[in-house]
Amino acid sequence: MVKLIPHTRSSAAIDHERLNSLINSMADGVIATSAEGKIVLYNGAALNILDINSAMKDKFLSQTMRLLDKNNQPVDVHTLVMSVKRPFTSRDYRLQYPDNNTINLYLSIAPVHLGFGSGMQGYVVLLRDITREKSLEEERDEFISVVSHELRTPIAIAEGNIGNALFIAQKDPNSNPAIVEALTQAHDQTTFLAGMINDLATLSRAERGKLTLEIESINAHELMQELVKNYSPQATEKGLTLQVDLDKNLELLNSSRLYVREILQNFITNAIKYTEKGGVTIGARQKPGAVEFYVQDTGIGISKSDREKVFDKFFRSEDYRTRQSSGTGLGLYVTMKLARLIHAEIEMASELNKGSVFKITVPNLKA
Ligand code: ADP
Repeated sequence: MVKLIPHTRSSAAIDHERLNSLINSMADGVIATSAEGKIVLYNGAALNILDINSAMKDKFLSQTMRLLDKNNQPVDVHTLVMSVKRPFTSRDYRLQYPDNNTINLYLSIAPVHLGFGSGMQGYVVLLRDITREKSLEEERDEFISVVSHELRTPIAIAEGNIGNALFIAQKDPNSNPAIVEALTQAHDQTTFLAGMINDLATLSRAERGKLTLEIESINAHELMQELVKNYSPQATEKGLTLQVDLDKNLELLNSSRLYVREILQNFITNAIKYTEKGGVTIGARQKPGAVEFYVQDTGIGISKSDREKVFDKFFRSEDYRTRQSSGTGLGLYVTMKLARLIHAEIEMASELNKGSVFKITVPNLKA
């Protein structure tokens, strides 16, 4: 008698099949390579994006795609992948086809362990066509740039004139208090609008890579004293103290005075805005090759879940105390962009209802 042995597949084969159907159901192009950069696995979406209809197995990535960087310079994808030590993502590369057409790519490269415990190392590359998103982003940035530029002059003129009218009305003993109140409100709102337009203009320049860097020698001591002088009236008006704490041996710092000042101004205006009682301390300490600035407040603080979002574009906390003051949610986003430009590092610590501290370490840059 012949025994019938059911046909069983090894569990490794089943795993492999599962993995294959999983990656083939993904909308993103997925390519896995060996440690040497040879393709070991890919899905249909990768073939689609690369516009290839032959097998890619055992080929090097550089034989399958041509990448261009932001400045239109060719990038060797093999060298790029091999240089990745930690997961890396970028939205700045473009893929060039043999007919010279290009698409914008979302590219993610991660070094991984392949082969379920066999110890095999490799890389996983994800590809997504983001041409449409990119062109919408560019149109939006162009629109923001034009609008903010066009709005600047009329708003500045309105703000100046309302400010003058308010000054005259406040000085005139016979002026109607209702008019003074109306002008005060109009002035506050135009000042807010001017600030918002300024943020939008900086943002659009930053996103279009149009911000230029002018390195100067900065006297951190003087800069901090100047900031205290400028913001003391605002703090006093809210019943807050504004103190300054400076290292005695602060050295001259080489960086962009404009951006360092703008970053600190954003921290200080936020600290005053989001503090009800107590005060704000601004300080600077000398570090090797850098100056660490900090702005500390005794304000409403930032909840744990909000802490990772405060640097996002247009983010404002849902906390009702935040919503009591006006804001655009752009300040810290722009701050982060400026910090990157001057290679500065931002740190933030905060506790709800206790206060926050924003720190920025600004390194000396070569002129
Ligand atoms: P805006 O102040 O215009 O809302 P920002 O980008 O400057 O925008 O800040 C984003 C959000 O981060 C604020 O809306 C607020 O919720 C939170 N935040 C920033 N600074 C502070 C601070 N010092 N204390 C408490 N919350 C803060």
